[in-house]
Amino acid sequence: MARTTVIVGAGVAGLAAAVMAVSKGDKVIILEAAPHPGGRCRAWPLAGEDLPLVDLGTHLILRGNRALHAYLDRIGAKDGFIAPGPTPGALTLIGGTDRLTLPLGPGLLLKPPAPLTRRALLAAHRLMRGGRVGDRLDLDSPTGRWLWHPLVRAALNIDPAEGDARLLSAVLRQGLLRGTAAACPLVPRDSLDTALIRPAIAYLTARGAILRTTTPLRRLDRTDDRITALHVGNGDTIPITPMSRIVLAVPPQAAHRLLPDLDVPTESRAILNLHATLPVPPAGDAPELLGLIDGTGEWFLRRGARVAVTLSAADRLRDTPATEIEAAIKADLLRLYGCAPDQVRLIWEKRATFAATPAQNARRPGPNVPGLLNLRLAGDWTATGLPATLEGAIRSGLRAVESFGRR
Ligand SMILES: Cc1cc2nc3c(=O)[nH]c(=O)nc-3n(C[C@H](O)[C@H](O)[C@H](O)COP(=O)(O)OP(=O)(O)OC[C@H]3O[C@@H](n4cnc5c(N)ncnc54)[C@H](O)[C@@H]3O)c2cc1C
Repeated sequence: MARTTVIVGAGVAGLAAAVMAVSKGDKVIILEAAPHPGGRCRAWPLAGEDLPLVDLGTHLILRGNRALHAYLDRIGAKDGFIAPGPTPGALTLIGGTDRLTLPLGPGLLLKPPAPLTRRALLAAHRLMRGGRVGDRLDLDSPTGRWLWHPLVRAALNIDPAEGDARLLSAVLRQGLLRGTAAACPLVPRDSLDTALIRPAIAYLTARGAILRTTTPLRRLDRTDDRITALHVGNGDTIPITPMSRIVLAVPPQAAHRLLPDLDVPTESRAILNLHATLPVPPAGDAPELLGLIDGTGEWFLRRGARVAVTLSAADRLRDTPATEIEAAIKADLLRLYGCAPDQVRLIWEKRATFAATPAQNARRPGPNVPGLLNLRLAGDWTATGLPATLEGAIRSGLRAVESFGRR
């Protein structure tokens, strides 16, 4: 008889765990609280269109994200992400009247463009000592302003001074320091939904997995070292036989509600996204991905006339009226593209990621819950050694299933 693996939470971590469990021959049941799978990778349709095209937030991945690319390959979705044009090996940053083209990979270190300096870049080796980024790098230097600030905010979603130095070091080792190809950013061809979520669901359902949406897990029954039943939102009880096992792939607050003894990160940071359509697409070969170091918006991803603007660690704007934020970002758009949109749509994700500080990073648990044999944890907030990213979420899901071993 096939073993059953119950996955709770159909975000990227839960779906990766489900894909791994299915590949081991398990019968898989996925319980998801929301009406749709995807978690923080959810997307909405544009007016008048069927396919969800507006992501909750712009997601960048790196070519060097090994687990993510192997996973995309497995679910038949390796073409879902593309490099933003026209120069995939470089990033364009704008500040004041200056425009800086940053080569990605070793070129950055070998020949840093002014005002970046080699000496300031080499200081990154100090990140391995741990502590806060602000204690290891000079954030007020030109290299701090043009590189460390935008990089830490985008990769760790935290104010750079308080960011965890080891997490930043992991990001550098995984991307920038592994060569130009590994450091190259990729974005979903259309949306996260079509690039990542639909292919996973298609892969899983073709292999007999069952997805139950609008089915929140409310309570767990436990006898000694095993979970024996799951109580879900509609009043159903799912018995957990000795052959069954559970992967809990829900956000940290939900995991703590279900397992009150579990230590989890308790602080989070917000991300703000603004979606705009310019009256006309910019002429010429304008970069599709732009960083702005002295605006309100930070990263601008443009497809034709549509622009998605991202502002990380956005908590400082929580009390600012939406109209004020919109006006400030419209001014950024006017500055970058020479025209401002009439209509914009602002999306706040208040708990976008756990707060990537050293103290919160230390609260991230591994996959095992002490004293529980048939349950594992997954999610970008578990101890992956990476900030809250798709790569981390996927690694956590695969690891959760692997860590059951052969039992
Ligand atoms: C705006 C934004 C921008 C981002 N940008 C990037 C980026 O550029 N690059 C990158 O790599 N990452 C980025 N991320 C992070 C990335 O989205 C996450 O790391 C990843 O989606 C987390 O997946 P997860 O499965 O761990 O968690 P989630 O997506 O949160 O999934 C958890 C799931 O559990 C469900 N759930 C909760 N409670 C219950 C319950 N009781 N019962 C059943 N189900 C439950 C939820 O509904 C959800 O579907 C961004 C995130 C945001 C919000």
